[in-house]
Amino acid sequence: MTPHDPDDERLVLDAVEKFLEAEVRPHAHALEKDDIYPTEIVEQMKAMGLFGCIIDPEYGGMGLSASTYAKIIERMASVWMSISGIINSHLIMAWAVQRNGTEAQKRAFLPRFATGELRGGIGLTEPDAGTDLQAIRTTAVRDGDHYVVNGAKTWITNSLYGNTIALLVKTDPKAQPRHRGMSLLIAEKGPGFNVTRKLEKLGYRGIDTCELQFDNYRVPIDRLIGGEEGRGLQHVLNGLELGRINVAARGSGVARAALEEAVAYSQQRKTFGKPICEHQAIQLKLGEMATRAEAATLLVQNAARAFDRGERCDMEAGMAKYFATEAAMENALECMRIHGGYGYSREFNVERLFRDAPLLLIGEGTNEMQRIIIAKQLIERNPA
Ligand SMILES: Cc1cc2nc3c(=O)[nH]c(=O)nc-3n(C[C@H](O)[C@H](O)[C@H](O)COP(=O)(O)OP(=O)(O)OC[C@H]3O[C@@H](n4cnc5c(N)ncnc54)[C@H](O)[C@@H]3O)c2cc1C
Repeated sequence: MTPHDPDDERLVLDAVEKFLEAEVRPHAHALEKDDIYPTEIVEQMKAMGLFGCIIDPEYGGMGLSASTYAKIIERMASVWMSISGIINSHLIMAWAVQRNGTEAQKRAFLPRFATGELRGGIGLTEPDAGTDLQAIRTTAVRDGDHYVVNGAKTWITNSLYGNTIALLVKTDPKAQPRHRGMSLLIAEKGPGFNVTRKLEKLGYRGIDTCELQFDNYRVPIDRLIGGEEGRGLQHVLNGLELGRINVAARGSGVARAALEEAVAYSQQRKTFGKPICEHQAIQLKLGEMATRAEAATLLVQNAARAFDRGERCDMEAGMAKYFATEAAMENALECMRIHGGYGYSREFNVERLFRDAPLLLIGEGTNEMQRIIIAKQLIERNPA
């Protein structure tokens, strides 16, 4: 990804903005309320090329920079966070192939990821392994020119309506250190790839997050990303900086949406003869919320620009992810308080922001882990 001409970026962002206001905002509330998958919206996103927005033009994508991509995600999440997740998880899979795949894999898969013909996400988490990914138990055993996969995954986003995931497996469960036995496969749905349950969630509704069971599921060996066993965890870690920038961008989008809702409501709602935005207690909240939203956006862009320059940016991405997602949670709560009783009603967007925000504290590395990563980097970059 390379930074783009500002005029090109403006054109893309304007098109996204128009699409969100015309096609997403009017439907988000109803779809979310009933947990309905936004099929038509997804089809429109395909037509706009958004499923390939960071894929290299050589392989059929738009080749946008991480900073333009982050701006798109921020806007999407401020209208409906679930829509941004449909793109994010898919592009983490695409990025794993673009960055680590063989030339043949890039030619075979990236153009189909870019159009959305193949669409999905990443299959890492298992019932007994999330943060400690090296503890996964799903195995892939070589049988001629196939791997035979057995095991279970959980919390896999885009796995019901999507058709492909980047699947983390153990090709050598006895390897020490454990990561040397881990590999990443491009897994298209087929016999033995079973979606066993769609999970009920607090927020992030409309988008499908499921439990998967692999029962003698066969994957051709040429789907091993990079063509070499034992590199799977590394491939996943290679995508984490971009993944964290994406989640951070979702956080700044939600933080901004909460601010906008709060500002608008506080100007309309009157108590004791004046709009509540004229009470100092509300002004203090608005001041804090606006500062948090602005700082979140700046941290996201700071990390994205470092990424675009090709610099190591795990600390910057960790800071952006930690701060922007906490900002989303805090702003959603403050927005709810400003709305009083109406903030608790399912009729308003406020309660959706409040239910969507907590996911961001957990996904792409919990915020507990982010602080540890930031501290470790700080110490590494400043030797005694
Ligand atoms: C809606 C949703 C969608 C998701 N989508 C996907 C997806 O598409 N693909 C996928 O693979 N996964 C997905 N996940 C899973 C998500 O990535 C995991 O939930 C997350 O990595 C945390 O893992 P865990 O739930 O097993 O928690 P655990 O790893 O069990 O952690 C529990 C707690 O312990 C803390 N902790 C753990 N280890 C340490 C440590 N060393 N030091 C300090 N604290 C620690 C954690 O911070 C956390 O607070 C999704 C989750 C949700 C809720």
